[in-house]
Amino acid sequence: MGVDAVTLTQDLIGCRSVTPADDGALDVIQSALEGLGFRCYRLPFSAPGTAMVDNLYARLGTAAPNFCFAGHSDVVPTGNPALWDHDPFAGTVQDDGLYGRGASDMKGAIAAFIAATSGFIAGGNGVNGSISLLITGDEEGPALNGTVRMLDWLREKGEKLDYCLVGEPTNPEKIGDMAKIGRRGSLNGTLTVTGTAGHVAYPALARNPLPRLLAMLNGLLLEKLDDGSDHFQRSNMEITSIDVDNEARNVIPAEATALFNIRYNDRQSAGGLHDRIRSVCDQVGGDYQLDMAASGDAFLTPPGRLSEIVAGAVKKITGQTVALSTSGGTSDARFIKNHCPVVEFGLVNKTIHKANEYVSLDDLDLLTRIYREILRTFFKS
Ligand SMILES: [Zn+2]
Repeated sequence: MGVDAVTLTQDLIGCRSVTPADDGALDVIQSALEGLGFRCYRLPFSAPGTAMVDNLYARLGTAAPNFCFAGHSDVVPTGNPALWDHDPFAGTVQDDGLYGRGASDMKGAIAAFIAATSGFIAGGNGVNGSISLLITGDEEGPALNGTVRMLDWLREKGEKLDYCLVGEPTNPEKIGDMAKIGRRGSLNGTLTVTGTAGHVAYPALARNPLPRLLAMLNGLLLEKLDDGSDHFQRSNMEITSIDVDNEARNVIPAEATALFNIRYNDRQSAGGLHDRIRSVCDQVGGDYQLDMAASGDAFLTPPGRLSEIVAGAVKKITGQTVALSTSGGTSDARFIKNHCPVVEFGLVNKTIHKANEYVSLDDLDLLTRIYREILRTFFKS
């Protein structure tokens, strides 16, 4: 009896695995995989000050190449339950759709991958190599005790991933629209300019930090980072907040802080951007403090065998030519790219992180067929 993607998605939605909780989700995945002959390893990790996160690595076969499917079983909180038409953890099917938190991001894709593997094996296809799954429980959280720790563990154990498909929801409208072959980097900046507080009537006795902060921000906005690159849009800086925390109109404030975020392409690096920002601020001068935190460098898996296999499978099953994009936010692919070529392709992302998140039953079936076709072409060639 093969694995059914709809039933498995429902079973997974039934687990309240709001990050970093697991609530049995990995047990559901493990038991489905053991039924297919996978060898499973549970990898709970924690670090001081962080919650324990459970993770799963499973492998079928021992030979190379090892084709890995990566994803996460944790989900974001439901938000206001009153906005949901169905219990977000019931996995209700209505009008050809399956509703619940994680339906598209990304319990449905995990179920599709396992169902695809089940169908692939049942179809008498040989696995000329290995199929593995790398499932983490903290992608939606700080991402400290999930993929990063698991990849370290794999490396120590001598487990090599040769190609990786991340099942994040990548399609804006319909299955087959878009796969991701890279992501922009993200850098958060906090710029605090300090001065001396005083009475507005006696400006000579104070030092207003605001003109300098505005001059620095203006300098940063005028700084053209780049014109984009072959596979990326241009790098962009957005100021997200300016805080002075001053309610008195007759007081010159002591300090002013701005927050900004830079999404950058493969022509930039976090260190290089930090230096550039510092030099713009230095041109304005005076006392200031700049803190920069990178949450992932830009990366690109140049179009090649893996993206060709994904594009070919999408074309065969849906007739669509998939766009190979680097747009959107970050994902755990930013860690996996240090180990092997990685491409992301999953469900439609229209309802993710929202109330009434759902996946259409047709999409679940299409994705299962696409994943199966990917396995077929990969292990044939
Ligand atoms: Zn996700």
